[in-house]
Amino acid sequence: MMTVSGGESLIFEKGIPGHRGSHLPTAGVPAADPAVLLPGVPLREEPPSLPEVAEPQVVRHYTRLSRLNYCVDTGFYPLGSCTMKYNPKLNEEMSALPGFAALHPYQTEDQVQGVLRLMYELEQALLTITGMERASLQPSAGAQGELAGILMIKAYHRDNDGTGRDTVIVPDSAHGTNLASAAMAGYRVVEIPSSPRGLIDLSTLRRHLSERTAAIMLTNPNTLGLFEEDILEISRLIHEAGALCYYDGANLNAILGKARPGDMGMDVVHLNLHKTFSTPHGGGGPGAGPVAVGPTLEPYLPMPLVRPVQGEGVFTLDYDRPFSIGRVKGFFGNVGVMIRAFTYILSVGSDGLTRAGEDAVLAANYLRARLCDLYSVPHDGPCMHEFVISATQQAERGGTARDIAKRLLDFGIHPPTVYFPLTVREALMVEPTETEDLHTLDRFVDVMRQIDGEITNDPETVREAPHHTPVRRPDETLAARHPVLRWQKPRSDEFSEPVSG
Ligand SMILES: *Cc1c(COP(=O)(O)O)cnc(C)c1O
Repeated sequence: MMTVSGGESLIFEKGIPGHRGSHLPTAGVPAADPAVLLPGVPLREEPPSLPEVAEPQVVRHYTRLSRLNYCVDTGFYPLGSCTMKYNPKLNEEMSALPGFAALHPYQTEDQVQGVLRLMYELEQALLTITGMERASLQPSAGAQGELAGILMIKAYHRDNDGTGRDTVIVPDSAHGTNLASAAMAGYRVVEIPSSPRGLIDLSTLRRHLSERTAAIMLTNPNTLGLFEEDILEISRLIHEAGALCYYDGANLNAILGKARPGDMGMDVVHLNLHKTFSTPHGGGGPGAGPVAVGPTLEPYLPMPLVRPVQGEGVFTLDYDRPFSIGRVKGFFGNVGVMIRAFTYILSVGSDGLTRAGEDAVLAANYLRARLCDLYSVPHDGPCMHEFVISATQQAERGGTARDIAKRLLDFGIHPPTVYFPLTVREALMVEPTETEDLHTLDRFVDVMRQIDGEITNDPETVREAPHHTPVRRPDETLAARHPVLRWQKPRSDEFSEPVSG
């Protein structure tokens, strides 16, 4: 339980015994004994303990909660490595069309030709964008795409005398999920340090390559927002050592229409439809993390795949894939997300995708250039779609990256990602995206400069921020040790006396 500023209680325990949201008319027939009507069925003896509330209270409760949420539709959201771009409402309209929304996954193929065609054409579009050979749309998140990809790599080595290959190399500039995915697939993870420029160092990479190397998993642009300049040499070295290349393409925004993982020699890449291809995210899903592969891994893709039937103009689900790693998700994946991504791709077109990439990179470089005199920039040179600055100078004056993030909330701005990547102290990772206008970017700069001034002149204000949010600084330890994750029936002594605190 917590208190919103203004004293309004945010408690969930709204129930008052006897309150109801609906009234059923009397049945008009004599009541029957359920035990007689449903013989042998174990019946509940007591009613379930649910909150008892009338409809207006339910509507007000959820409407009020929804207005406390922060989202891309209400403000700037420069959360690094997340691509919180604005999602055109057209995408929502298309995925809500009754012909899509009312589909059932157990319908027969002849009844779902439209959505099969959409899935096939989306796959083709993603292959054009990535330069890969085939893709599965099934994984429901980036991290699940990673796991699918690394399981395919494992299956490939199993079939090609590579069972001794038990190690995956992950640069320290990779996304945290990369290490986790490799470990979940049973691999030993070797993390290699970046060069002082924040890139993969070729001599370090060479030193770690051996007949035990199964793959490298790299994020490009990496989590410092830098493009791996030696990517062609990296993939050549990896293949020469008999290993495969995994490309984390969750943040594809920066290279859209400019560069393709397939042309960089990558064997497998996952994309985050819910980042680059404009699906709302941030609330925990649903998402989609398709995996696209080159010829080496094509036989191992999750199944079924959608395949056109030669000469018949129809599509079928192909289960005849003996080397497939199998299913990674129930049914066909999150189809609603695929519809949104497909709508986005078709509505902006290939020129629009290229422009989105260019504008995303421009916005990031603009912010970086306008902040680098006050906040230190650990790596020189232009960035891609995001950049990392360090608040070490501010921390010395008493305002850490966390304090700055909290203070930004008072200005109605979602903070950047903080304390990531781990290789940068007091890191603030900023990703503005292409959908913000110059006015919004300038306001962010003004606020970041103002906070820097406050750290010198009025550090308490920054250290005690946020001052204007529904919840101030939650007790992170308490939240982690005693999480309250769902409504629970309050004890009777708590029932009518809402306590806040
Ligand atoms: C977001 C992200 C992921 C994980 O994607 P989820 O959909 O959250 O599982 C992986 N890698 C990178 C680089 C990311 O930015």
